[in-house]
Amino acid sequence: MWQALKQKKKWRGEIWNRRKSGEVYAEMISISAIYDNESKLLRYVAVFSDITHIKVHEAELSRVAHYDALTGIPNRLLLADRMKQAIAQTSRDQTLMAVCYLDLDGFKPINDSMGHEAGDEVLVEVAKRIANTLRGGDTIARLGGDEFVALLLGQSKGEECVATLERLLVTISHPMTVKSKPVTVSASIGVSIYPMDDEDPDTLLRHADQAMYIAKQSGKNRFHIYDPELDRRARDQHEFLKTIRHALENNQFELHYQPKVNLRTKKLVGAEALIRWRHPARGILPPSEFLHYVENTDLDIEIGEWVTATALAQMNQWRQSGLDIEVSVNITGYHLDSFHFIEKLRKQIEIYPESQFGKLQIEVLETVALNDINVVREIIGSCRELGVRFALDDFGTGYSSLSYLSLLPVDTLKIDQSFVRDILDDKGDRAIVQGIIALASAFERQTVAEGIETAAHYQLLLEMGCELGQGYGIARPMPANELPAWSESILW
Ligand code: C2E
Ligand code: MG
Ligand code: MG
Repeated sequence: MWQALKQKKKWRGEIWNRRKSGEVYAEMISISAIYDNESKLLRYVAVFSDITHIKVHEAELSRVAHYDALTGIPNRLLLADRMKQAIAQTSRDQTLMAVCYLDLDGFKPINDSMGHEAGDEVLVEVAKRIANTLRGGDTIARLGGDEFVALLLGQSKGEECVATLERLLVTISHPMTVKSKPVTVSASIGVSIYPMDDEDPDTLLRHADQAMYIAKQSGKNRFHIYDPELDRRARDQHEFLKTIRHALENNQFELHYQPKVNLRTKKLVGAEALIRWRHPARGILPPSEFLHYVENTDLDIEIGEWVTATALAQMNQWRQSGLDIEVSVNITGYHLDSFHFIEKLRKQIEIYPESQFGKLQIEVLETVALNDINVVREIIGSCRELGVRFALDDFGTGYSSLSYLSLLPVDTLKIDQSFVRDILDDKGDRAIVQGIIALASAFERQTVAEGIETAAHYQLLLEMGCELGQGYGIARPMPANELPAWSESILW
């Protein structure tokens, strides 16, 4: 002020002044310096007005803008501000900040049955309880409705947050009296922790919100801490699923067929359709590179339907060119148990009315079939009416009891390759394979040995009474157009 008066001979601004009574007040003041003809300072002239009422009003506006009217705690706007500061402080102090997103459990019924006033009382009480549980530097804010956010600052390790979260859960779930009635609510809390989750305020809040949903889903009145690593994996999977869908829509999948032969006659009896992904950058990918990503998603079903449709069309084409063989497709439990599985399959089969009944086979993992035996049994029954037969894949890896096996109307047991591989030197595996063959014959089921890699395996399986087999020693899975020529050569 003095500098301005010296240089520019005037100053204008706001100052805090004091009245004679000692009361401090705000004034807006303009001061001019008055000089005589010799440029000697004569006096200052000041004009001022009392702007205390404006200051009070400003403070009120800022309060309304930054605080929640009902509970008096910070609102979303102030929270954003505090989070920015807190992130800076947390980085400086090398401590942790926990962003806790709280949503009350059981609030809506109170609001609905006891009225909004009662609901408001609950919110005020909860806000008070949360505030009392937190430390001085922490922030509690209300986002609206029954949603609150607590910022826990200066935490040295995760355990410290956990202790506070547990205290929060306990205080919130204590009974309270509202309109002279006892009322209880609890909270589901989602937590993101900075800097483990190294993100901006908005993202931290969103992650805490996501974690809150998990807390709700896992039974309420609990907290869940957001895991960036898990989330990254989920996002990766999501991204990869998009690529797989794109591949499906752009015909990048193809089926290769592995011959299934009668071990005695050496004749081709069928083929197993095995999916391959002709990846534009990575070449041909086996199912182990991508199928587990689609497990239990819609894509699992779509791929299964594509496989079935493609195999049926292929079978029909082979049949027309004189190669009438059985084709099996691998179907997941999720797909098998999905909506309208049977009807959709029927429609696919009806496209080829001339195809011979009983030529399509579905392979399901033994472990899947055992999971929900009654459901699977019914589905298998309905499929048989359509002429679709079933094989239990990777047989021996599950725990089929004899009674289960007698319940499942499957035609074929495919002996898992892990047992077949070792029959030459491992007595135990040989006994298992022998057991499965005997079991199948007692129940009048076929056996297919998977993974026949050498002539010795083949010979031994034949002696053990196994009818059918597949394996690299007979033929590797091949593109559809190679199968007719292969079936005519008996080079193996
Ligand atoms: P699976 O149904 O038991 O199929 C047999 C797998 O063993 C195939 O692997 C086949 O290439 C391989 N194999 C055949 N003979 C031999 C052998 O002598 N030695 C060895 N070491 N392996 C042999 P692939 O094609 O990589 O498929 C692996 C699994 O992926 C399949 O096991 C099946 O469970 C699944 N799968 C394949 N295609 C599909 C499909 O279209 N849909 C679904 N849902 N699953 C599929
Ligand atoms: Mg199979
Ligand atoms: Mg198998």
